[in-house]
Amino acid sequence: MVDYKQIGLVNTRDMFAKAVGGGYAIPAFNFNNLEQMQAIIMAAVETKSPVILQISKGARNYANQTLLRYMAEGAVQYAKELGCAHPEIVLHLDHGDSFELCKSCIEMGFSSVMIDGSALPYDENVALTRRVVDYAHQYDVTVEGELGVLAGVEDEVSAAESHYTKPEEVIDFVTKTGVDSLAISIGTSHGAYKFTPEQCTKDPETGRLLPPPLAFDVLEAIEKKLPGFPIVLHGSSSVPQEDVDTINAYGGNLKAAVGIPEEQLRKAAKSAVCKINIDSDSRLAMTAAVRKTLAEKPAEFDPRKYLGPARDHMKELYIHKIVNVLGSDGKLAQ
Ligand SMILES: [Zn+2]
Repeated sequence: MVDYKQIGLVNTRDMFAKAVGGGYAIPAFNFNNLEQMQAIIMAAVETKSPVILQISKGARNYANQTLLRYMAEGAVQYAKELGCAHPEIVLHLDHGDSFELCKSCIEMGFSSVMIDGSALPYDENVALTRRVVDYAHQYDVTVEGELGVLAGVEDEVSAAESHYTKPEEVIDFVTKTGVDSLAISIGTSHGAYKFTPEQCTKDPETGRLLPPPLAFDVLEAIEKKLPGFPIVLHGSSSVPQEDVDTINAYGGNLKAAVGIPEEQLRKAAKSAVCKINIDSDSRLAMTAAVRKTLAEKPAEFDPRKYLGPARDHMKELYIHKIVNVLGSDGKLAQ
């Protein structure tokens, strides 16, 4: 049993309480490789932001859970080396799908886990989530549950249709399960293709697709039922058009990728939404930089020469999100 506190990680409890009270959100960035992790930590240190490093099923399959967990331990030391005396870094399991998986992550040193029973019938979701909470809380590990279903495909989490969270269920769910935070569905979705062109309207000036707005009425109804309770948004990449354009200009073929406009996420971050998950945008940033570098320097074959610029570009993206979208900059305790 690894005690996450011994390796310098923190859980989400204080972090979320401050974010809800302060009208900002904590960035939850997925990582599955060295360059992403370095870029996340550099961005968090430079902006003095708390940060959640999260690991999905796809990441565990790709990079190995043990290796990723030691990278997170290294991330704490790396942040200190970069000059941050007291980094606030959470190691979080994204979309845990069984009690056994959550338990193994907790034993390994994760400080926070998500148990995603949102695809199960309501009572089964409650029972599974309760079981994970009872186990996790013995070790002061925080737990995120989910009600409502997000559409889209990302890292083996997929659903054809989204179902908004029902505000009338949230009090019962939170009370019966004892979760520390709740992921809800209000129109965000996983992946880089969040909406079909038919769901969007066209901006008459730029010709670009504008997605339907998030269901802020559902969010407000949930906040009324659970005042001050930490709410989480998944699938909140914005799919920056510049990166999509760069990818397509250098041989890529991304068609009509559409994300959540940043104004809407800024608005959400000011509410009880205290954790915003961003994964696809980092993938787009990395791919755009790699494609551009390889196209411009066709003789290059040293991975550091194209992964380096990719790391720089991801770091810019993370800083932009922290400062301009989530507002978590300057929020470290000291
Ligand atoms: Zn998710």
